[in-house]
Amino acid sequence: MTRKDSEQGEGTVRDFIPVAEPVLGGNELAYVTECIETNWISSIGAYVSRFEEEFAAFIGTEYAATACNGTAALHLALACYDIGPGDEVIIPSLTFASTAFAVSYCGAKPVFVDVEPDTWCMNPAHIEAKLTKNTRAIIPVHLYGHPVDMDPILSIAQEHDLYVVEDAAEAHGAEYKDKRVGALSDVGVFSFYGNKIITTGEGGMLTTNNRDIYERTLYIRDVAMAPTRRYWHNDIGYNYRLTNIQAAIGVAQLEQIDGMIAKKIAIADKYNSLLKNAEGITLPVEKSWARNVFWMYSVLIGDEFGMDRDEVMHELKKQGIDSRPFFYPLHHMPPYLSEEELPVTERISRQGINLPSGNLLSDEEIAKVCDTLKSLNAG
Ligand SMILES: *Cc1c(COP(=O)(O)O)cnc(C)c1O
Repeated sequence: MTRKDSEQGEGTVRDFIPVAEPVLGGNELAYVTECIETNWISSIGAYVSRFEEEFAAFIGTEYAATACNGTAALHLALACYDIGPGDEVIIPSLTFASTAFAVSYCGAKPVFVDVEPDTWCMNPAHIEAKLTKNTRAIIPVHLYGHPVDMDPILSIAQEHDLYVVEDAAEAHGAEYKDKRVGALSDVGVFSFYGNKIITTGEGGMLTTNNRDIYERTLYIRDVAMAPTRRYWHNDIGYNYRLTNIQAAIGVAQLEQIDGMIAKKIAIADKYNSLLKNAEGITLPVEKSWARNVFWMYSVLIGDEFGMDRDEVMHELKKQGIDSRPFFYPLHHMPPYLSEEELPVTERISRQGINLPSGNLLSDEEIAKVCDTLKSLNAG
């Protein structure tokens, strides 16, 4: 896509409406050009620290540390707490696979809990039944932009001496009781993949108020090189660094984040108003304690709807409308296969669909998606 295309005018309906697309409409090119002209293209450079400082300020934490992607940032968070073989970490089954993979990279075991029927996020009421003497941490995932109900999770964690790492990869700027996600627990983790709320192409960030964890993150991320002795390693580290070029894009994106989030919310408002009486379709919620940033505007296709979710996706595609299915339950996939039943997860995973939510969507395109969706039920 050229830059001109990215300045899509009001009223346009594209032949193919994507689910998401990056919008690089600010200082991205200027800042990247500066990196190249000054030769600061690797992982040391002014944009890396600027991106970290400005992101920490945006989230409201003392510290933020970049990582090469969100998956690596999740792994770093768990590595900082020495999560390892024999340990268990509580996560929702309805999430992107990286949440579980980070646990597996440590040699620990992900333990799955069911989600709430309305927020589609981890259900705090189901956590205590899953605790064992080996449980070390909980990773709530702020799914599709809605925050998890954190207070009950934080009190369980306090009572049982567990770490809480928020997977906020899909929820930059979302709020729980007026506080931003990523600042609510021990550590927050963000992703800047191309379809996320802001992007660096690939990229991640870890946020925390804990100075020790921050310093440990920098150390492990930088191949655990001894601070006072170059090329000496007392621990096994990782190279999980972000480049200055990526951080330059991140700084430019961060300048525009308020507008990006406002646009996501406006898209959701428009969808909600057009779909509010649509039969067989369940709309997303925003709890009274929440600010939902609607990373992906998503609905459930009820069993009473004229066709199932996969057929709906197929029919939308025929009309030039892209969509995504909800994440499959992790406990149904080969690495984590189990007989356990998590009924809410299983139903929502089967019924859920992410509709086009990119920041270049026009009102006319949203109307086309809604009209098409409603016509499928009637047919
Ligand atoms: C995107 C995502 C990640 C992983 O981030 P990457 O930058 O793609 O590695 C982790 N968890 C969730 C919930 C995500 O959506």
